[in-house]
Amino acid sequence: MQRFVADRMLGKLAKWLRVLGYDVVYLRKASEGEILQKLQAGRTLLTRNRRAQKWRGKGNVFIVKGNDPKIQLREVVKGLGLPELDAVIFSRCLGCNRTLDPVKRETVREEVPDYIYQKHEEFYRCNDCGKVYWHGSHAVRMRQQLQKMLED
Ligand SMILES: [Zn+2]
Repeated sequence: MQRFVADRMLGKLAKWLRVLGYDVVYLRKASEGEILQKLQAGRTLLTRNRRAQKWRGKGNVFIVKGNDPKIQLREVVKGLGLPELDAVIFSRCLGCNRTLDPVKRETVREEVPDYIYQKHEEFYRCNDCGKVYWHGSHAVRMRQQLQKMLED
């Protein structure tokens, strides 16, 4: 599976790629050296900075043209030929990019609304920020939104 590094103007795109399950490091403030290091470690660089073309010899550089995150996502998915919705949705924390671990249902009892607890069997937790995830209506809505974004 392709891994990415996104630079500062692409925070929303990074999040949507994480929804698709991709490993995306988002560098809000980074020196050229830090970006280069990630690039050389095998991550595809996503950037709006055209000058990054000069790094093409050092790794995979993808220049994003669109302003709108939806258009950007389509550009990346089509441009790099990424499998669209095969990816496991919600396998990764949208905030920290860490993969989620399944947790015992009882352990999240105090942390999720009661109706969610009653309705769902499977829960996941990010071991960095502690956020709890489940495959609820939010996931379904995001998936529909994604499908729409990638369709037209
Ligand atoms: Zn997290």
